[in-house]
Amino acid sequence: MNRSYMGKILMVDLGSGDIREEVISDDLYEKYLGGVGLAVKVLYDRIPAGADPLGPDNMIGFVSGLLTGSGSVFTGRWMVTGKSPLTGTWGDANCGGNFSPAIKKCGYDGIFFTGISPKPVYLFVKNGKAELRDAANVWGKDAVETEEILLAESNDKKAKVACIGQAGENCSLIAGVSNDRGRIAARSGLGAVMGAKRLKALVLAGRKLIRSNDRAEIKKLRLKTLVFVKAQPPLNQGSLNAYLGKALRMFPGQIALDGMLYKMMLKKWGTVSMNQLSIEVGDSPVKNWDGSNEDFTGRKSAPINPDVFIECEVKKYFCASCPLGCGGICNIKDRNSVFDETHKPEYETVLALSGLLLNEDLDSIFYLNEILNRAAMDTISAGATVAFAIECYENGILTLEDTDGLELTWGNTKSIVALIEKMIKREGIGDLLADGVKAAAEKIGNGADKYAMHAGGQELPMHDGRNDPGFALHYSVEPTPGRHTMGSMMYYDMYQLWKKIKSLPNPGIVYSKNSKYKADEDKAIKAAACSKFMNVANGSGLCLFGAFLGLHRLPLFEWLNAATGWEKTPEDYMEIGERIQTLKQAFNVKHGVDPKKYMPNERTIGLPPPKKGANKGRSIEIDRLIKDYWNHFGWDADTGKPTAQKLDDLGID
Ligand code: SF4
Repeated sequence: MNRSYMGKILMVDLGSGDIREEVISDDLYEKYLGGVGLAVKVLYDRIPAGADPLGPDNMIGFVSGLLTGSGSVFTGRWMVTGKSPLTGTWGDANCGGNFSPAIKKCGYDGIFFTGISPKPVYLFVKNGKAELRDAANVWGKDAVETEEILLAESNDKKAKVACIGQAGENCSLIAGVSNDRGRIAARSGLGAVMGAKRLKALVLAGRKLIRSNDRAEIKKLRLKTLVFVKAQPPLNQGSLNAYLGKALRMFPGQIALDGMLYKMMLKKWGTVSMNQLSIEVGDSPVKNWDGSNEDFTGRKSAPINPDVFIECEVKKYFCASCPLGCGGICNIKDRNSVFDETHKPEYETVLALSGLLLNEDLDSIFYLNEILNRAAMDTISAGATVAFAIECYENGILTLEDTDGLELTWGNTKSIVALIEKMIKREGIGDLLADGVKAAAEKIGNGADKYAMHAGGQELPMHDGRNDPGFALHYSVEPTPGRHTMGSMMYYDMYQLWKKIKSLPNPGIVYSKNSKYKADEDKAIKAAACSKFMNVANGSGLCLFGAFLGLHRLPLFEWLNAATGWEKTPEDYMEIGERIQTLKQAFNVKHGVDPKKYMPNERTIGLPPPKKGANKGRSIEIDRLIKDYWNHFGWDADTGKPTAQKLDDLGID
């Protein structure tokens, strides 16, 4: 039977230089899918308990989704996985572009590395042959330069590259992995693992066919999805999105958002469509989570109006198998920059470098986007770390002497730019901050941890749990803490899981704001469903934005059956998601991490409640929500550890 997985992984020992293939059983795919599921099974079994994330025993895996290349759409994402040096927990980050099919075209569902190379190397795979090559000529180069040089060396126009920039080489704990000239799998700090292993890049030039069990069925389903993707009414100016945010804030009820609205905005503007809307509604944190929409008013956020990003967009950017194309390439020649172009900055990047710092200078955001992408440093973590440093400076914990003379005041664009340049180079104060807020606060002491907004060590993204308690809950319970791409109340509304799984609650079209902010079991049921579902999505290579279309428009489970010949029900797939999540949690327990330590900084959950702005007076009863969530997973409600019974039920050995 043809199946859309390749049935093999590649194992590379960077210490000995040994490279070998391993066959993966059909049974493992049925239990864990590909992508994150395959990775967690391989790495749970092989990384020894307590391994130093930057030492030889940690492993790093590059995995493709089970549906990548199958003929389905929105399923071209790959993941980098391993033990995170930033959090000490299970770590993963996913990215689009064209790298996911490249892994499979080499004949593998994943490529895993262990050991430490004595010198900088990169992996080259072509025509069924894999070899480690000298990377001395690209060590020290940024991600875009590295990609250009290695593509030229490969002498293969179809080769694809994933690599680290200066941040990974410097083992910055907020380093990611870049592909497609600066798109980053940014979270979890896994770029530092590559740097510690002296693994600069992977260059993949395979030509293997990716098969599917029933391509005709996949196509039939795909055509139905495309009808929804193509439906696009003309949208007005981007500045109106801010008014939509205001209206949603003032509306007495909570509208259960349908992902079609977001799809339309994504198609026109990309993720930046949410910039001002998000500030107005109280979703985006402002001034290191201590401010509000009243500190970054519509006038101040006008420079990040979505229209300004598409005015300089010269090309739309599509990931593999994506019919939507939320990305873009922006011309920044006239923007006070040494660079000609940059990937259109993402929402997370823009808000972490603007509202969070009270920075109103758009040119600096384009410039910082490009240098952070080239360094392959996480823009969320970089922005959050600068916000932390500013608040330390404003409160006298850091002085001019500590900051190399930089006046770290709110909205001081010049200092913000200089500080991030220093973080990339690990120069002066930048060395202290290059490992993110938790490590910096520990080194600075003197109460600095009060200003470090993280969960379990990972800087928090640009979604405020005081506006949507689902975010606060997922930041606190995901085995990769501080993660915003698994679930929230808004995501639950958009996934529309209840249309496939009848036991799940249907929120209706409008629900009361009182119920939104009440800690009750319903939230745990929804959050647990989101986590399970997104593990299936991340095992398949599905883009989160595709998932937002809703399961009645995006037939994920049906595609999985058609691609593999399985006859699984939606409930079966949710159980697979539960198994993946439980094994991630077991990974953390194996490595001695206490699940209670994922809890985010108190300020971010409304302790004390904000005195003004969109989230005024709100605090989240996080303890109750966490217990209910653990309970729903069949994990111990007091410790968060999976019970022996649950492991047994899920067939986890
Ligand atoms: S919607 Fe955007 S991020 Fe998702 S696959 Fe398409 S281009 Fe990539």
